[in-house]
Amino acid sequence: MRRSEALSAGGTFLASPARGPFVRLMISAHALPAPPGAPRPVVVSFTDITARWHAEEQLRQHKAELAHVTRCCLVGEMAAVLAHELNQPLTAVINYCRGSALRLRAGTGGAAEIVEGLDLAVAQAERAAGIIHRMREFMRKREPQRAAAPINDVVGDALALVGPELRHHGIRVVPRLADQLPLVQADRIQIEQVLLNLIRNAAEALTSLPVIERRIVIETALAGSSVCVRVIDSGPGFDAEGLRRVFEPFYTTKKQGMGLGLTISRGIIEAHGGRLTLAPAYPRGAGFSFTLPVTTDPPVPAPDEGAG
Ligand code: ADP
Repeated sequence: MRRSEALSAGGTFLASPARGPFVRLMISAHALPAPPGAPRPVVVSFTDITARWHAEEQLRQHKAELAHVTRCCLVGEMAAVLAHELNQPLTAVINYCRGSALRLRAGTGGAAEIVEGLDLAVAQAERAAGIIHRMREFMRKREPQRAAAPINDVVGDALALVGPELRHHGIRVVPRLADQLPLVQADRIQIEQVLLNLIRNAAEALTSLPVIERRIVIETALAGSSVCVRVIDSGPGFDAEGLRRVFEPFYTTKKQGMGLGLTISRGIIEAHGGRLTLAPAYPRGAGFSFTLPVTTDPPVPAPDEGAG
């Protein structure tokens, strides 16, 4: 241990005075210089940081609530396409069940054929349940929870939610995901929210292009002690004003836009100790990148793992 570390210390503590509510104290101790061989005097100070702590706690809660509201808005915007996506497996379930019932009534087809029809119906029902489960997980109001997570899986979760919308607009996704990346310390739902924001913004920028040119590249790579994620589109990109203002709260060029997506995304990434930046893409388009610090903690199961 270095000498300076041994001689100064600090921390925050909850203290309960004889009467009245708990207060939060910051306690710090510093050793003062002394002649060689003489005992060093120590100054210990107690600062009441209760008010600051409450203000910070309130700010953190407001940020989490805002992120939750915008997640619900995101799903609301995707509702029409998600409903369509849900309709497909449900129609398939009806058809497989009807086919099996017809065979049973008519006495045609063996048991194996009927069981096969029912198995197919179950698989489609599970697909529909999976879509609903992903949506509910994403919208759930919850305390932010960080844990070690594989970033490529988080990209996969985001693509599973936004995939139907991309297909609807004829947008091709080109994943370039690095193998064997270390885990990142992240709240999976919040990072999924950032990805959804970037991917949906990219998709919206691409709708002005002919279908054949609509392409989003999603890259993951190791960058020093962080993992970097890039979402690159071949849309019109930004003019000088857009480049300057894109992360400003309420900056939007969309009729229905709130201009909060990138502000909230940047807040989420910075709270994770990373950075969200924008760079023009070559030969045209926008490339948003964010970093997340890697962790050596063991992985924990994803929120939807093991759920029915
Ligand atoms: P909103 O989507 O509600 O407008 P955002 O903060 O997500 O809010 O985006 C702010 C603005 O940045 C958008 O209105 C759009 O003008 C611009 N923008 C974001 N992503 C892109 C992109 N990939 N290509 C071009 N412009 C973009």
